[in-house]
Amino acid sequence: MLEASHRYFHHAADVLGLSDKIRSILLTPRRVVKVEIVAEADDGSLLHHTGFRVQHNNARGPCKGGLRYHPTMDEDHASALANLMTWKTAIVDVPYGGAKGGIDCDPSTMSRFEVERVTRAFIEQIREVIGPNLDIPAPDVNTNADIMAWIMDEYSKYYGFSPAVVTGKPLHLFGSVGREEATGRGVMYALDEALQDQGRGMEGTTVAMQGFGNVGSHAARLIAERGGKLVAVADHLGAVAKEDGLDVPALFAYGREHRTVKGFPGGEPFDGGDVITWKADVLIPAALEDAITAENAGDVQAGIVVEGANAPTTPEADVILAEKGVTVVPDILANAGGVTVSYFEWAQNIQQFRWELDRVVKELEKTMRRAYGAVRDVAKEKEVDLRTAAFVLAIQRVGRAGLSRRSVREEIDLS
Ligand code: GLU
Repeated sequence: MLEASHRYFHHAADVLGLSDKIRSILLTPRRVVKVEIVAEADDGSLLHHTGFRVQHNNARGPCKGGLRYHPTMDEDHASALANLMTWKTAIVDVPYGGAKGGIDCDPSTMSRFEVERVTRAFIEQIREVIGPNLDIPAPDVNTNADIMAWIMDEYSKYYGFSPAVVTGKPLHLFGSVGREEATGRGVMYALDEALQDQGRGMEGTTVAMQGFGNVGSHAARLIAERGGKLVAVADHLGAVAKEDGLDVPALFAYGREHRTVKGFPGGEPFDGGDVITWKADVLIPAALEDAITAENAGDVQAGIVVEGANAPTTPEADVILAEKGVTVVPDILANAGGVTVSYFEWAQNIQQFRWELDRVVKELEKTMRRAYGAVRDVAKEKEVDLRTAAFVLAIQRVGRAGLSRRSVREEIDLS
């Protein structure tokens, strides 16, 4: 996975003509933390896991990024995802660097108290390297507002009241209105921009979606509110489709209750693997990485792919999609709404002042549309696709900040 994210980086670095040394400086994480986590299980036995936190870059501000609880979490994953966060925060121009981490555990097999104990044990181990001005974790796959609350509580035990150490907290505990739906809302704006580029609107646009978790469910809801039609949706347990559009509010409520779309009575079940190649105007992969691969990319029918997940398209698949003329709105742009509202939450915590929902929504919309426009301008100017343009813009911003903080004599052109 790390290799894949580096490939996209190098493609943009080629466009910018960066030297090997500058590439290596921009790719190497500034700190990689790996800790042992031992906590008590409910039955008195021991839970034993490994926790990771990779701080990739802090040239533009404190490191920022989510924590993922998943059996596949390892140093490679954390590094690749931390790397993407550096570029993501630069594209939406929030004052952060990039980080990512997590624990190699499966919370679905653990009780709430076990997840809490493992979380607290993890924070105890990494508390010295996180902080409101150092590194600010947030939710990611399989982590939620409750876990963020425990992180704030654990950290505050050592350093005093510190709500700004973590974002994505519950509303009643210094979270921000609009944070939970922020990534999905940002995906909706990114799609709206891509459609406008093609002279179309949301009304009547058909969408196939992989994943119906925090990102997918809110994106689907907001797209449907604007007249888009969700014709197929798959998660890791099941899949449902309906040619003239699923009843998204009903599906949303069903998904909340059953934690899956499987068994939703308002559509026909199908083999979830087929969602990537479903007949629809738009495909939104909003689950995990490596969803669109060399095996299925050739059969993608959608004309627009909006990457709600991080790294859902392999570099081989990306080439195939480009050859087919598919527009790909890359993860580091499309799903940046989450970290954008994390920034609003952090700013509110520091100011000790609360924003209302309409302010959050308005600022998020402005940020996403501005970022999309900036990426599109680079794409036009350099005659490259949106992903390469997004990396070019991000590398310029991060590179310039990094160089300005040092007295660099080396000649490099980041214009
Ligand atoms: N985990 C989310 C992402 O990949 C959010 C990160 C954050 O809010 O810091 O963008």
